[in-house]
Amino acid sequence: MNEFDRLKQIVDERVEAERDSLFALGNQILHEPELGFKEHATSERVQQWFRRLGLPFRAGLAVTGAKATLDTGRPGPTFCLMGELDAIVVPGHPHANPDSHAAHACGHNAQIAGLVAAAVALTDDRILSELSGRIVFFAVPAEEFVELSYRRQLIDEGAIEFIGGKPELIRLGEFDDVDLAMMIHTSAPKHGEMPVELWESLNGLIAKTVSFNGKAAHVGNPWDGVNALKAATLAMDAIDAQRETFREDDGVRVHHIVTRGGDLVNVVPSEVVLEMNVRGKTAEAIQEAGSLVDRCIHSGALAFGAHAVVDTLPGYLPLRNDPGLADVVIPNVEQIFGEECVGYRGHSGSCTDTGDVSHLMPTIQPSMTGASGSGHGADWAIADPDAAYLSPGKTLAMTAIDLLRGDADQAQSVLASWEAPMSKNEYLAFQRGIRSQKTFGS
Ligand SMILES: [Zn+2]
Ligand SMILES: [Zn+2]
Repeated sequence: MNEFDRLKQIVDERVEAERDSLFALGNQILHEPELGFKEHATSERVQQWFRRLGLPFRAGLAVTGAKATLDTGRPGPTFCLMGELDAIVVPGHPHANPDSHAAHACGHNAQIAGLVAAAVALTDDRILSELSGRIVFFAVPAEEFVELSYRRQLIDEGAIEFIGGKPELIRLGEFDDVDLAMMIHTSAPKHGEMPVELWESLNGLIAKTVSFNGKAAHVGNPWDGVNALKAATLAMDAIDAQRETFREDDGVRVHHIVTRGGDLVNVVPSEVVLEMNVRGKTAEAIQEAGSLVDRCIHSGALAFGAHAVVDTLPGYLPLRNDPGLADVVIPNVEQIFGEECVGYRGHSGSCTDTGDVSHLMPTIQPSMTGASGSGHGADWAIADPDAAYLSPGKTLAMTAIDLLRGDADQAQSVLASWEAPMSKNEYLAFQRGIRSQKTFGS
């Protein structure tokens, strides 16, 4: 067995020795779901592990983030391993919180178990003494782009500037000392899908909060009112009627929910509020679809003599998985799941704020089996805790070993072939430029 394999053997032994406590961690978080920027208990669990492993860390980053650093003591690049803290709202999920309906129906509990498993493995001196540079273990908040009104409140209070955790951490400078980044998202492979899926790219998105304002009146005399719900319905129909104009290559998705639909059934609705996402493969496609959406909102307001206010907020940039990092990751997942375990895919309509990180440094986010059911659905479950909780940790740790062993030559070669699409300042200027408010109608 060569040296390469010996270090990875230690990874396997270290993670397997802690399998019960790592399963317990994944299950504890499953039963204690918290929504974005509220993940205090989940973050505390990660911090307990950082303490136990003797890792220096900082917490309370972007409200709940926790970031530990493992320094080899030798100069070299910094590789950041990430796990997301937050849950999603899925009423009816068997492990949903009865009050908030928060549930881990996207598998982020498994990401945290995997992140901690990687820390368990890499804190071994036999591994550390053969690496250069630094490894960051980053538990990051608020990946799910939800609860816009709550997050606007946090923005108004000055607690955050951006809706998502990683954009906020970028703004705070918490990625300034990082050179490469990786995360693994849990998946529930369907027919034809592989244990590990690697997409070339994922969509980006912007968010809109739309308020239609009309005039309340008795429903017996509707001519005295202005029906904000009808105006909103017409706007939504106009958007739907234009879906055929979206180009396949642009990956455009427009989706919305009604968060306020009227007050009483016998009063003409005077205020109706929508939350919307506009997703697309490129910034240009998102901007074009965003303008189309604004026109449709205008049309609804115009037809009914209502007033509409559209607040547009920056969301996430499209994810570009780095091919250089993929070359390092793939042999490791093949070691765990066997040869030809990777499905190579083109473009996905999903979004993640890992996309923002991928504009600043080489980044990769494969998905890995371990769950069953539908993501964000009530039937999502961890079906194979070995694959969901342990395999991501082993993969992250083995990839860190490959990148940083010796003088970190492999990390340096990934960095040498990388061209950043934008600087951090350009990124912040771009995202801030999206923020706007438009008003339509009378
Ligand atoms: Zn999700
Ligand atoms: Zn997710």
